[in-house]
Amino acid sequence: MPASRKRNKGKERKAKKAKNARSMMHTIWSSMLASACDHGCAAIPVIGHPVSNFMNDYYMPLILEDSVVSGTGLVKSFRTCPEVWKDDSYREMLVDVLIGIGTNMLLFDVNESGPNFKALRVASVILILEEYGKTKDINLALIGRDTSSKRRILAPGVSSNERDVLKFYRKRVSCKCLKRMHLDAKKIIPKMGKCFNCNDERERVNLSFCSRCMISQYCSRECQVAHWPEHEELCDYASQVHHQSDCISGAIKSIQHRIKHHHRR
Ligand SMILES: [Zn+2]
Ligand SMILES: [Zn+2]
Ligand SMILES: [Zn+2]
Repeated sequence: MPASRKRNKGKERKAKKAKNARSMMHTIWSSMLASACDHGCAAIPVIGHPVSNFMNDYYMPLILEDSVVSGTGLVKSFRTCPEVWKDDSYREMLVDVLIGIGTNMLLFDVNESGPNFKALRVASVILILEEYGKTKDINLALIGRDTSSKRRILAPGVSSNERDVLKFYRKRVSCKCLKRMHLDAKKIIPKMGKCFNCNDERERVNLSFCSRCMISQYCSRECQVAHWPEHEELCDYASQVHHQSDCISGAIKSIQHRIKHHHRR
C-alpha cells in the first residue's frame, strides 16, 4: 500500500473514532433530557448542531469540574463554540437544554444528599449564559450582573442549599414538575449561608453582606474586618463591574425607551 493511502486510512480511522466519541457524548447528555415531561424546553438538538457540539465538549467538565463554572472552561468555549454564545437562538436553545437537564437532576438524581451540586453547577452556567444575553460581554457575564440576589446564592464557593436551587429551576420551567419539591423544601430547609471568614454555616438571616460588592457574607463585624485584606481585590473588581453594567443596562433602557417612544408617534 502506498504511503499516501496508508496516511488516508489513518485519517479515516481517526475521523471515525472522533465521530463515535461525539455520538456517545450526544447519547449521554441527551439521555439526561429523556423524561415524561420536557419541562417546556426546546427539542434535543441533533448531532452536528452547534448546541450539540457545545454539549459534547463541555457537558462532562460542566457537571464534574469547578473550573468550568469558575470561568476558564467557559472562556475556552467562547473560543471553540462562539456561535452558541453569539447567536441568540442557539444560546437560548442551549439554556433550554441545560434547564431540562438540571431539572431532571433534581427530580431523579436521588443519590445526592443536601444541595444537588451537579444541578448547582449547571445553574451557574445558565446564569452566565443569561447574563451574556443581556450584556453581550463575557467578562461581565462571568462576574455576574446580579450578584445582589441570585448570583451570591448560586456562585461557586458560596454555600447554597437545595431550596435555592429548586427555586432557580422552578422559575425557569413552564410545568409543575418541581412545585411539590420546592414547597416541601421551603417548609423544612432554612435559607443557609456561610461566613467568608470563619466558614461558619448559619441561617442567612444571621449573616450580613458586604454592602459594597454584595457578594461576601459575614457572621460578624469582626469577621468582615479580618477578611478585608483578602477580600479587597474581589470587592474592588466586583463593584467596578456593577458600575459598568449599571451603565450598560442604563444605556439599553434608554435605547428601548426611545424605540418605544418612536413607535408610539
Ligand atoms: Zn416538567
Ligand atoms: Zn465569621
Ligand atoms: Zn465586598
